[in-house]
Amino acid sequence: MIIGGGAAGLAAAVSAGEYIRNNELDIEVALFEQDERVGRSILATGNGRCNVSNSRAEADAASAFYNGEFVARVLAGLRDRAGGSGEDGGAPTRFGASEPTDPVLRFFSDRGLAFREESDGRLYPAANKATSVLDVLRAAARRAGVVERCGCRVAAVEPPRALSGRFTLRMADGAFERADAVVIAVGGRALDSLSVEGARVLRTRPVLGPLKTDPTWTRELDNIRLRCKVSLFRPQRSTERRMIAPPAAGEVLFRKYGLSGIVVYDLSRFAWAGDTVELNMLGCDPSGALAYLLRRRGRLSRALRGGPITCDDMLRGLVLPQIGHVVLKRCGLAGESACSDDALGALSAMISAFPLEVQGMGDPAQCQVRRGGIDVASVSDIDLRMDGAEGLFCAGEALDVDGPCGGYNLHWAWASGLVAGRAAARFAEGEGA
Ligand SMILES: Cc1cc2nc3c(=O)[nH]c(=O)nc-3n(C[C@H](O)[C@H](O)[C@H](O)COP(=O)(O)OP(=O)(O)OC[C@H]3O[C@@H](n4cnc5c(N)ncnc54)[C@H](O)[C@@H]3O)c2cc1C
Repeated sequence: MIIGGGAAGLAAAVSAGEYIRNNELDIEVALFEQDERVGRSILATGNGRCNVSNSRAEADAASAFYNGEFVARVLAGLRDRAGGSGEDGGAPTRFGASEPTDPVLRFFSDRGLAFREESDGRLYPAANKATSVLDVLRAAARRAGVVERCGCRVAAVEPPRALSGRFTLRMADGAFERADAVVIAVGGRALDSLSVEGARVLRTRPVLGPLKTDPTWTRELDNIRLRCKVSLFRPQRSTERRMIAPPAAGEVLFRKYGLSGIVVYDLSRFAWAGDTVELNMLGCDPSGALAYLLRRRGRLSRALRGGPITCDDMLRGLVLPQIGHVVLKRCGLAGESACSDDALGALSAMISAFPLEVQGMGDPAQCQVRRGGIDVASVSDIDLRMDGAEGLFCAGEALDVDGPCGGYNLHWAWASGLVAGRAAARFAEGEGA
């Protein structure tokens, strides 16, 4: 029985069903989904386009994912079992141009899904619609004999009481079911309300979303976008602060409450209240910014035949007026005042390191994943079996794993689902023997 008909649960169901079908076993695979239909969470991804995976997910695994070493071992095991060469030929960038060797992409490709690759290795279905991914998965599940049980919320999983006994799944409506093997694939959000006896579950919190920062400076910039480099610092007891995330280039969206945009989402995985986000609007280091503004003042002055250059003159055409206004306010400068050397120094420092103190996550409803969940230290990196619970497996966001934007989180959901589903089917096979 697979609990959760999202990305990981569907991959697990197909993987289990196909193992059972290919080995002609008399075992049923049932997929329990609390919603009226499976796969709704998949349809919401990538703004309805589903950034299904990333061609660098496996190569980057150790550094990109939270609990990355664990993820890297699981992905390597999946590749070994799938008979991969270890040399990734990459994702097919044109339909049919090459066959992917990554086992996750291969899984989809073998079942009919064609991909297109966009920037930074982001993979989307060729049809550019999330429905295309779900259609392929559901067709594969149907062919593999998976039974969808929608509208069934599982409230508790109880382990077998006697040797060779079966798991009990208690439904929210009071009914119960018995299973030889169980895969927990309920995602991050639901884990707090599902009781799994014996599981080591860490508290979850939303990440990969907007950040709430001191609104004094962002309030009047609501809805304005800025291309810049973003970095994150943490105060230390000593005077030196520590860089938590090195500068990453991208587009920041100012909100009344703080900051949004993909580059901010990625940063949110590392941010704590009290940290400082710095926006580098010119993208060069402070000495480069100062040199640039000196040259700019000289050029503007020459064009005005030596006339006085104001602070407004310096910022006009360089940043949007609303941003310029806030920069001047923070520097305590009047726009119409002459841009003296001191003023130029202050402007240079502010636009190359515009600081905003983090107050927490912004709107949690916009966060794409949750940090926390089933402790990876209590789970086998070979088959995702939970310690001390023969026949109980887990996959996807239910585990304490998360990755950056760009298809990494779905890649983990598919990969872990494939591993856990097959392992559960093999376990059930052993139980039946
Ligand atoms: C708006 C948004 C956009 C995103 N876009 C992307 C993207 O483009 N690329 C990417 O890589 N990642 C993206 N993500 C993250 C990605 O969706 C998740 O990492 C992924 O869906 C996790 O898969 P999962 O199967 O573990 O959990 P889920 O997909 O959340 O599936 C869990 C399923 O279990 C069901 N369930 C929960 N509890 C129970 C219960 N007790 N009984 C029965 N059923 C239950 C739920 O209804 C759900 O269907 C996005 C996330 C969001 C919120």
